[in-house]
Amino acid sequence: MQLAILLPILLIAAGLIIRKRTSIYFPLSLAFGAATLLKVTLVIHEYFPSKYFKYILILALLLVVIRLLVHFIKAIAFPKVQWLLQQYREAYEGFLCPVCEYPIRIGPLRFLFRTRGTVNRTVLSGDRAEQEEPYTCPSCGRSLFEECPSCHKIRHALLPHCMHCGAEKVIE
Ligand SMILES: [Zn+2]
Ligand SMILES: [Zn+2]
Repeated sequence: MQLAILLPILLIAAGLIIRKRTSIYFPLSLAFGAATLLKVTLVIHEYFPSKYFKYILILALLLVVIRLLVHFIKAIAFPKVQWLLQQYREAYEGFLCPVCEYPIRIGPLRFLFRTRGTVNRTVLSGDRAEQEEPYTCPSCGRSLFEECPSCHKIRHALLPHCMHCGAEKVIE
């Protein structure tokens, strides 16, 4: 009965630790996870004969190691930059600032209210006017559209290629 309550909590803790790795509250979820893991270990130790407990512990450790390996293999196969670019692409596609998700208010979108949830349902009338001047996110201050150094037209500041001349820029 104790395990039936503790194990779901442990799963939630593990989920929090994996998902909030980059958050400033990461230590909080780490402490939560460590405390839950300790309690689970104590409960298992109390109710299971220690030779079974040993096997359960080994199995649990194996799972943790496999999870870590999967994480590192993923990190090698899909570097963080790729993941970032994916986020940037989706944000530009939705006319939201890739850094802080504040709506990009340009052209026909200037007076529309949008959030991440409504953006795909917004129907635009007429052509999307192409951005013709540099644009900085008023919320976080990141430059989102800037002049291309090679063709001097306006390009996406956080995407690798200029949409007019194709010139490449390194995105860190
Ligand atoms: Zn922003
Ligand atoms: Zn260009």
